Amino acid sequence: MGVRRVREGFSLVELLSALGIVAALMAILMPVYLNTRRAAIRTVCISNLRQIGIAVRMYREDYQELPPYLSAIHTYLGDGRVFVCPADALQGQHAVADTLGDSLRLEGNFYLPTGVSYTYVPNWGIARLLGWWQAGPPYGEGKWGELTPLSECHWHWAKQFHPRWQTDRITGARGWVLILTLNGAVRRIRAETPPEAFSPELYH
Ligand SMILES: [Zn+2]
Repeated sequence: MGVRRVREGFSLVELLSALGIVAALMAILMPVYLNTRRAAIRTVCISNLRQIGIAVRMYREDYQELPPYLSAIHTYLGDGRVFVCPADALQGQHAVADTLGDSLRLEGNFYLPTGVSYTYVPNWGIARLLGWWQAGPPYGEGKWGELTPLSECHWHWAKQFHPRWQTDRITGARGWVLILTLNGAVRRIRAETPPEAFSPELYH
């Protein structure tokens, strides 16, 4: 009788071994899954930024200057989804933060109801202060010409909008910022790079 009872189910040791194997598999596979997912999200974002870069080029050809805000180019894109990064928890529905002259750095849904996840660097007060861009529009040529940052995605490291992104070391910025440059290329820099230390040589 006693032997039969043991055979009816798992012994505690067997159960713990099975759980241990499942836990080990999870530990091995979860990071792979998360990395794959993050890479897929980044690919969509880079594609969005490239399309925005092409649309900005078309706008510049038509008007001989940069757009006054990012979504002013939406007529060249036909699809508002291009302005939304899948890593952005609020999907572009950000409130405009009217601090430090950064009111339109991240326009959110101020102009386009479908929202904007990406910043517009020419409207960033600190970028103007450091001479990256003139006050505009028009914004001039950009400090590094075609390599000057035009738009950024912060959602691959930041969880919420903070008007002092990159300047407020207290937030413990850590990770990569995707940057669209004026020539339409998408590059990345470390989020912890202070704006005053920025140079196109830091692009990866
Ligand atoms: Zn993104």
